[in-house]
Amino acid sequence: MRCKLCGCEDVMVAYEGKIRDGRVGNYTDKKVKMFRCEKCGTIWHDSRERDSRQYYQSEAYRNELEGTSDVNEFYRLHDGESLEKFRYTGTEIFRGKTVADIGCGAGAFLDYIQAVADTVIAVEPSETYRGAMKGRGYTVFGYAQEALKEYRNKVDVIVSFDVIEHVEEPQKFLEEAYALLSYGGRAFIGTPTDAPVMREVLGNAYESFLFSTQHPWVLSGGSFETMAKRCGITEFQVRYYQRYGLGNFVYWLLNGQPGRHKEYDFITKTMDQAWISELEQQEKSDYMVCEIVKGACSP
Ligand SMILES: [Zn+2]
Repeated sequence: MRCKLCGCEDVMVAYEGKIRDGRVGNYTDKKVKMFRCEKCGTIWHDSRERDSRQYYQSEAYRNELEGTSDVNEFYRLHDGESLEKFRYTGTEIFRGKTVADIGCGAGAFLDYIQAVADTVIAVEPSETYRGAMKGRGYTVFGYAQEALKEYRNKVDVIVSFDVIEHVEEPQKFLEEAYALLSYGGRAFIGTPTDAPVMREVLGNAYESFLFSTQHPWVLSGGSFETMAKRCGITEFQVRYYQRYGLGNFVYWLLNGQPGRHKEYDFITKTMDQAWISELEQQEKSDYMVCEIVKGACSP
């Protein structure tokens, strides 16, 4: 077997067992093999249970993931993530620019961007969310490929969070995002890592939560390097971010399930910040963001 991203033959089985199917606590009936490339670090599975394009256009996906496809529920669940996204991008790159969010859901993050940006482009396969955003005056596309007809080399800033791990061909995803970028434009592509510390300490209990039918990929720094080189991207950087605090780790140890933003009296802010910054510095955090710059003289 060869690595599905870099083509190298050094592939091992990183995990074999039940994996998450939609919401936390829902598992596949059958065992699934997760493969890992020893060269680029990409992890993937080949368990294709649905036509993914149709699936992400339907309400079934959100219902299975979050128990709802209601637009207002989307904001209730996701408005809290915007501050974290500004941590990845900064706030100073959006004013007067053409900005696209690929896989934006109902546009929780774009609602903040549109206050300063010149043009806001919402790319989202879900018909329900797309309808909601069209109603609020955004330029809306189902897929990046459709946006290319009008916006090739014209988008100054692209953001895309928690999307690339869902797509069948991440290489193609990156190529299309790069093609949309204007010369000098930049893209921020964020995705969960394999959270190596959590995996090492918690083992199978954590892995059966981390690996999911809806995520055919768990990408690594090496995955981005491989893909970037293949589409001729020379200017890119991968940064590591820890989204979940020490409280989540302790809760996992005690209960074997996610504690999300659980707080404990003995975990002081200093302690939590040390946990977060150490994991980020050691590149062992639970999230990473690849920033790509399209050079002023790119082909
Ligand atoms: Zn590889």
